[in-house]
Amino acid sequence: MFNIIIFGPPGAGKGTQSSNLLEKYGLQHLSTGDVFRANIKGETELGLLAKSYIDRGELVPDEVTNNMVKDFIERHPDVKGFIFDGYPRTLDQGKYLDAVLQDFSSEINCVVALKVDEDELTKRLLERGKISGRADDQNEETIRNRFAEYNFKTEPLLEFYQAQNKLHLVNGMGSIEEIFERLCKAIDTHLS
Ligand code: AMP
Repeated sequence: MFNIIIFGPPGAGKGTQSSNLLEKYGLQHLSTGDVFRANIKGETELGLLAKSYIDRGELVPDEVTNNMVKDFIERHPDVKGFIFDGYPRTLDQGKYLDAVLQDFSSEINCVVALKVDEDELTKRLLERGKISGRADDQNEETIRNRFAEYNFKTEPLLEFYQAQNKLHLVNGMGSIEEIFERLCKAIDTHLS
């Protein structure tokens, strides 16, 4: 398997770039945010639980998120690999993911992290909120909480992957095509 993590603060373009990447590399997309939203829509127990955190812009507890991801991976045994989008978001999630992939004799091959400044991110999220109707994109306080969660809980993960020589910081400003090209260039260095 060839597994990629796409990192970046809320609004960095992870979802948009993931759809292009999974097409190019033939990978399975796993967006934990999308799975939570589908559960909220379906009014499942998991959805009800996740909603209270998502509405406040807080992370859903690790145990809940990790179990959901493990279940997703187990239900896709024949894929060429995964693009993890919005997961892992804490060091514990990162370590958990390594252990799950190890059970499949696999690992994370490459981590790309999109860098975008906060003013631009806020602008993008508020715009997206108007179109998508996502409540967590429409409230500036929730957006600020999401940035804080990213800065305190998710950014430390970058060091974890840097120490493994898997991390690429990618400029996330510019056109979708330009950013896609930068991402592919980074990813291709891990394909031989
Ligand atoms: P996203 O669509 O990736 O921006 O995620 C939307 C929201 O879902 C986040 O603000 C969190 O509340 C929750 N969420 C998504 N992925 C995770 C994760 N890996 N760990 C904890 N919470 C998550």
